[in-house]
Amino acid sequence: MSKRDCYEVLGLERGASAEEIKKAYRTLAKKYHPDFNKDDGGAEKKFTEIKEAYDVISDPQKREQYDRFGHQAGFNGNAGGFAGFGGGGFGGIEDIFEQFFGGMGGRRRPSGPEQGNHLRYDLDIILEEAYRGVTKNIKIPRTEICSECKGSRAKAGTRPETCPSCGGSGQQQFARNTPFGRFMSAQPCVGCRGEGTTIKEPCPTCSAQGRVVRERKIEVKIPAGIEDGSRLRISGEGEAGLRGGPPGDLYVVVMIHQHKKFQRQGSDLVLEVPISISQAALGVEMEVPTLDGTTGLRIPEGTQHGTIYRLKGYGMPHLRGSGKGDLRVKVKLNVPKRLDPRQKELLLEFARLSGEEAGLENKGFIDRMKDAFSSG
Ligand SMILES: [Zn+2]
Ligand SMILES: [Zn+2]
Repeated sequence: MSKRDCYEVLGLERGASAEEIKKAYRTLAKKYHPDFNKDDGGAEKKFTEIKEAYDVISDPQKREQYDRFGHQAGFNGNAGGFAGFGGGGFGGIEDIFEQFFGGMGGRRRPSGPEQGNHLRYDLDIILEEAYRGVTKNIKIPRTEICSECKGSRAKAGTRPETCPSCGGSGQQQFARNTPFGRFMSAQPCVGCRGEGTTIKEPCPTCSAQGRVVRERKIEVKIPAGIEDGSRLRISGEGEAGLRGGPPGDLYVVVMIHQHKKFQRQGSDLVLEVPISISQAALGVEMEVPTLDGTTGLRIPEGTQHGTIYRLKGYGMPHLRGSGKGDLRVKVKLNVPKRLDPRQKELLLEFARLSGEEAGLENKGFIDRMKDAFSSG
């Protein structure tokens, strides 16, 4: 299912200011809040969409990521549940209502269906895997609906019975008078703790929890070009919901190991290649490693230390669209630490021809200075 653009949801331009975002959110959230639209089934969905969009673009960091990658990569709009992995419900509404009603007394309706908790899994991969894309099987322990009682919590063959205190609604209604008129609110039934049913014979498999903990294998497809720290949302693979609510989502946070040779900068790769002083001076054609093999690099005569050569298309794949970034090869001048006598002789000859003073065999500048001082 593709998500609507966050800005579109809030009726904003892409460059909207923080103030404009807040204002649009307040107006729309008030209009569509489920407590004011009891007869309108679509309002709740709309409200959730508005809240999710606001959660993304009201946070500068998430907004930046969203502006760059949209929903699919890193963040998708469901950031509301993501913060703290608290599950569904309507968080964050207090700031709107506190000023009108002095708080609503509980932000969730405990008797209604409730989405299961979101789960987070940190997955380590290597740069080669990020380069090619990879499918990983991960194991996660999570709560699932009990298969024995199908979540009813009652022993197989029996049924939960309607709670006599609330007649099955799980709620007790309260009316409150406010300056805006009479306002109805509901609280969970004390008799059944909001479940609407009571259980005579509990299911032994789940101890009347309706849910059990299972370890599940989940296949995670990691797209080529994924960035370090990206979050992949796997819809519905979180924990089981409550009272018929949908399951939470699974968020896989992908960490990429530091590579021994390559450093990543966006979609470019940076590689340091050591060359000798003769290669730098005379030029050389050499093979340099890439993430899936090698390629040729021509280093011209007179190359300086730190020079960067850009090999187009040998970087990381672009996450969006086609093509790849570049491989930037940075030349590192390797000065020989030891020379055999013949090499030394030739380098001294080279220095003489260049009119340079070099070598420590004959007294150098510092020794001559010392002599001058001691004799004076
Ligand atoms: Zn059970
Ligand atoms: Zn009850």
